[in-house]
Amino acid sequence: MSGREENIVLFPFMAQGHLIPFLALALQIRQRTGCIVTVVNTPLNIRNLRSLLPPSTSIRLVELPFRSQDHGLPPESENTDLLPPTHVIRLVYASFSLKPSFKRLISDITQQQGHPHVCIIADMLLGWTVEVANDLGILHFAFITGSAYGVAIFFSLWLELPHRRTESDEFSLPDFPEVSRVHRSQLSAALLNADGTDFLSICNQKNARLTLMSDGFLINTVEEMDKIGLEHLRRKTARKVWPIGPTFSYFINKPRISQADDAVRNCCVKWLDTHPINSVLYVSFGSQNSISHSQMMELAKGLEASGKIFIWVLRSPIGFNVNEEFRSKEWLPDGFEERMRESNQGLLIRRWAPQLEILSHNSTCAFLSHCGWNSVLESLSQGVPIIGWPLAAEQFFNSKLLEEEMEVCVEVARGNSCEVGHEQIASVIELVMGGTEKGENLRRKACAVKEMIEDAVNDDESYKGCSVKAMDEFFYFCRRKIE
Ligand code: UDP
Repeated sequence: MSGREENIVLFPFMAQGHLIPFLALALQIRQRTGCIVTVVNTPLNIRNLRSLLPPSTSIRLVELPFRSQDHGLPPESENTDLLPPTHVIRLVYASFSLKPSFKRLISDITQQQGHPHVCIIADMLLGWTVEVANDLGILHFAFITGSAYGVAIFFSLWLELPHRRTESDEFSLPDFPEVSRVHRSQLSAALLNADGTDFLSICNQKNARLTLMSDGFLINTVEEMDKIGLEHLRRKTARKVWPIGPTFSYFINKPRISQADDAVRNCCVKWLDTHPINSVLYVSFGSQNSISHSQMMELAKGLEASGKIFIWVLRSPIGFNVNEEFRSKEWLPDGFEERMRESNQGLLIRRWAPQLEILSHNSTCAFLSHCGWNSVLESLSQGVPIIGWPLAAEQFFNSKLLEEEMEVCVEVARGNSCEVGHEQIASVIELVMGGTEKGENLRRKACAVKEMIEDAVNDDESYKGCSVKAMDEFFYFCRRKIE
């Protein structure tokens, strides 16, 4: 852009997996265009973002008034990582209350800045921001923090409810025929029960419809990795789609955007330093999801039986308060924690680990992940193959993309109500980490994706990768529209 007084206003959803890539995008836009960049959110999230940025930052952070207890949420709960997974949807609904203050803010900025020089880049879960942009006659782009493939299937399922039209467990998507069949076990309980007239259907359909009406889509993905989903979105929306990811690449070798404190970070890195190259399994279900108590027991037994070294980030099992102290004696097999400590087989971390540091350490061999898209990008950018255990939303389709199209993943379980035995878990770990032909293939493919990602974000004078070019094209598009 021209570097005049354009103001780009970014509005992420209130979840770590959305705030982190949005902040990375904000910094990238600021650095590359010199525009005023404003990030908007609720007070506690803004405070958290402020603590992650250097004091000299030129990113403007703006709080919108919000009190979680006014929306049936516990006090001071403005981020999904503080909520049980069942409450996440309440935070989505609560976000509707931000509409009047957001509209006032944008209206004030347009008056100060001059009308055409403002645009919004908002989260795909904040479809109502499209209405604000339309009311004020300004540009609106959606930044999709998931894969194009996963999010496109997720939207298609909510909009078309194809599982309601068949008795069969497997079905295809009427508007997305390129996707091989979807199975009922890949649908969340909310989606399974949706019939188009219930509250959840109405909200999700409205959100998907509005989001798809944005003036264009920035996606935290790489063209080569995610071709099927990107082509689908281009066809379905007839809008510009710019795969600009992974945005976190901006932080590699820069100050870390992570909440893990220094003590945990040092402990993990020191522990990894004591283990051989390619020997450690990293286990994490992201910032907001968890598995059931019985699954946790099986996972612990499976990890122990596999004999493989592991780091496991522990969160309370589903149904228990996420903020309470982790009860190892109750939730893990008898003596598990002590045995792991004494044998040095496993390092158990509470709640939050320095994920990028762990994945980029050369002792890390594989990642047992819920397939949240940030985790996927972080893993593959380090050439680390994935053992998939998707739990919610579009994670099931990320896992499908990784296993069926990219061949960098083996899915071990699905959802937090499925039954999976420890023998099965141990055998998948062995398949991926035990020097099998399959394991070697997974690693080879993951390394090829790592190179693809490095190429995509290459920003040398002489050669720009496809994600960098897509970002430039987005700026060019914006400038033409704004001027
Ligand atoms: N994360 C982390 N440490 C943890 C858990 C999560 O650093 O213990 C970060 C992770 O690196 C990623 C984000 O939080 O950037 C989680 O996003 P993702 O899309 O993988 O999953 P979500 O938490 O949104 O389900």
